[in-house]
Amino acid sequence: MGRPASAGNRLLTALPAADLALLAPHLQKVSLEQDAVVIRAGDRRDHVYFPHSGAISFMLGLPNGETIATAVIGREGAIGALSVLGPSFMSSVTAVVRVGGTASQISVSRFHAAYMESGAIRRVVEAHTRSILMQFQHVSGCNGLHSVEARMARWLLHLHDRTEGNNILSLTQETLSQLLGVRRTTVTQVIAKLRALGAIRSARRGLVEIDRTRLEEATCECYDIIRGATDRIVPHEVVGSHPHFDGHDAAQEIAMFSGKRRRPS
Ligand SMILES: [Zn+2]
Repeated sequence: MGRPASAGNRLLTALPAADLALLAPHLQKVSLEQDAVVIRAGDRRDHVYFPHSGAISFMLGLPNGETIATAVIGREGAIGALSVLGPSFMSSVTAVVRVGGTASQISVSRFHAAYMESGAIRRVVEAHTRSILMQFQHVSGCNGLHSVEARMARWLLHLHDRTEGNNILSLTQETLSQLLGVRRTTVTQVIAKLRALGAIRSARRGLVEIDRTRLEEATCECYDIIRGATDRIVPHEVVGSHPHFDGHDAAQEIAMFSGKRRRPS
């Protein structure tokens, strides 16, 4: 614990003032309601979203109706940013809000124009791309190699990281079944096992109460690997005082993405 859950989007915060100014007039603050679909697989991406708080999972759906989560992102990432790879680039996944929060939204065309103009924005997109590809790879390894109990514990920890430290997560068994790509009956069994370990205190009426320490013991090494690698690629910013971006420090240097991380003064 200890991670600030809502101190602004880490990609926007990393931009120097002049580069942020290319985006700022076009950024609109939107709320991300739990269970809202931000983008559906197959749809054209119209907007790029930079979450300031909350959590969004990327869901892969198969033609037979089965789904599985491939990544979860919060304020360290963006949704739709890879639209800069091509103007008619379709989303391959459905992005669903799992923990409500807020985001800054910008049209793809405005974002693309700023991306072409600013090396700092291109480096931010590159960092996000590396981070999301890293997560896809580790999640695919985890899905193939580790138990469903360890995987459920990992998703619960990823989501808990993106709350305000609230140990009660709003998650139905249906949602857990979709995230894990397993049947509801399996979810019930896995919850019983995690309850026996004390990692889940209770799970009823769509609310899952967790014990963070026990959950960390129950998960696989993938949780630490994914969290550590994400922080190396998209480091935590110095929380500043930019009035428009939830803790944005306009003076901060993009150099943090090249490894020269600025220390809090
Ligand atoms: Zn794993």
